[in-house]
Amino acid sequence: MEAGRTYRATAIVLRRVNIGETDRVIALYTREKGKISGIAKGARKALSKLAGASELFTYGRYFLAVGRELDIITQTEIRESFPRIRGDLKRVAHATYIAELVNALVEEHEANFELFDTLLSALYLLEGGVDPEIVARYFELQVMSLMGYRPELDRCLRCDRAPAGEGVMFSPSSGGVVCEECGPLPDDVIYLSGESATAMRRLLAAEPQALKDMQFAPAVKDELFHAIRWYVRYRTDREIKSTEFIQALAAAGTGAEEAG
Ligand SMILES: [Zn+2]
Repeated sequence: MEAGRTYRATAIVLRRVNIGETDRVIALYTREKGKISGIAKGARKALSKLAGASELFTYGRYFLAVGRELDIITQTEIRESFPRIRGDLKRVAHATYIAELVNALVEEHEANFELFDTLLSALYLLEGGVDPEIVARYFELQVMSLMGYRPELDRCLRCDRAPAGEGVMFSPSSGGVVCEECGPLPDDVIYLSGESATAMRRLLAAEPQALKDMQFAPAVKDELFHAIRWYVRYRTDREIKSTEFIQALAAAGTGAEEAG
């Protein structure tokens, strides 16, 4: 587009970087145009109208002018600023991870309405008090499915038979379950108990509002965390930085409602 032309987009802030004395560059995930970057001039000045709109996770309408290098954010209408996420370290950590996952997975200017809507749903679930770990696992599985990598849990990927017993052998590199009947197991298999396999099936099939009623035992959460994280890592071929932060929080035994 020609410099100076204006456009608007419905967007969520994925990332922000401070530039110069008072400006911020933000990565927006827009419903209409996929990921775009824009500069919010003066956003760090006291009383700037762009301050809240350039915070992480903010959802709203953004008005931009096409610039020579970076588009310029001229005006915004905030629809949701997710105060409950911001006020809770564990929720912030999980929302940050989700935003980084989207940022890592999408190219600029590639719209994906379903991915946008899934991201927005995940933020509202975190805001609404749903267990952040359940939201993160749900989001990972839904995003992998949207990218064409829905894990197979019901049949062995090599011999097509239903796994014997309740527990399954999950191989991230194979894309789901493999069995011992049809050959040696791949090196990367992770054992999932019957309860964990069922939990993963429920997360794959669930509508977002159903997450409010889900509760998983700590052992199930741990198994899902490792299996799905390796799966995402294999598919994205990239470390997601905030994982370390979430693990550090867990190691520190941080209370869920601590102010961030
Ligand atoms: Zn098999």
